[in-house]
Amino acid sequence: MENEYYGALEAGGTKMVAAIYDGNGNVVERTVVKTEKPEKTAEELIRFFEKKKLTALGIGSFGPVDIHPDSENYGRILRSPKTEWQGFSFYETFHEALSCPVVIDTDVNAAALGEARYGALKDVKNGLYLTVGTGVGAGIIVNGQLLHGMLHSEAGHILLSKVPGDDFPGCCKYHTNCLEGLAGGPAILARTGLEGAKLTPDHPVWDIVASYLAQALADYCMVLSPERMVLGGGVMKQEHLFPRIREKFAAELGGYLTTPALSNLETYIVPSSVGGDQGILGAYCLAREPV
Ligand code: ADP
Ligand code: ZN
Repeated sequence: MENEYYGALEAGGTKMVAAIYDGNGNVVERTVVKTEKPEKTAEELIRFFEKKKLTALGIGSFGPVDIHPDSENYGRILRSPKTEWQGFSFYETFHEALSCPVVIDTDVNAAALGEARYGALKDVKNGLYLTVGTGVGAGIIVNGQLLHGMLHSEAGHILLSKVPGDDFPGCCKYHTNCLEGLAGGPAILARTGLEGAKLTPDHPVWDIVASYLAQALADYCMVLSPERMVLGGGVMKQEHLFPRIREKFAAELGGYLTTPALSNLETYIVPSSVGGDQGILGAYCLAREPV
């Protein structure tokens, strides 16, 4: 179906990545647009997508966004810290302008779907993609499909036991001991006074970050029984974190679980793949396989 075209949009707080794919999953055209005021940014994106008659558009969006297909606010940005985007409806805007079906999910769910269809979760039915960046969040694949619920997973805000001696109060507005507040990018900056990218691998903060991530992964493992867990996002560019996380994860499990998947943690806890394109690929998948 080479003459069919699908739009994909990875809508982020600082930039929007947009692409047009053909029916075989090849990129026809791609662009990056700065996230400014919604009217201006949306107009630029519409001009881009209008170049082809789209069969459908898939969007992985920053949140919080209403992703319930039955809701009258489907595709609308809710109470966002980006106040000018608050109330903006991706669904209405693009559905009206492009006259095609528009499917929306969160950015991390789209990334998880991209990993599931094209990347590190391709060969499993149940998996998890965790992004560790400015925010921390997970997309969860169950039986090959994204897990949706009351809202969407908020796995970055699970509550953790503090590492002994760690008196950092956390930088989440809502919790003193959630994963995002203890180990996300802003927490690393608040703990050390430096962006993570500027810290050497022997900085003591990495051991703390690895401990919290390992604890969280042990909890996800127990609750969701994923066959593999993928870690992406800016903080995970620190490759030295992976062996530390695996070691601490094994210690957290305490030998309680023994499965073939867990026998090799190098293939159980893995870095993200597809060269950072999991988000845009996932948006394309949303367009291809509407819920
Ligand atoms: P987003 O803002 O969408 O979460 P990223 O996934 O790139 O974007 O995450 C940005 C966060 O990751 C920032 O807090 C930044 O300091 C941190 N970060 C980016 N690159 C690195 C790196 N090489 N090492 C450690 N932390 C990094
Ligand atoms: Zn929190």
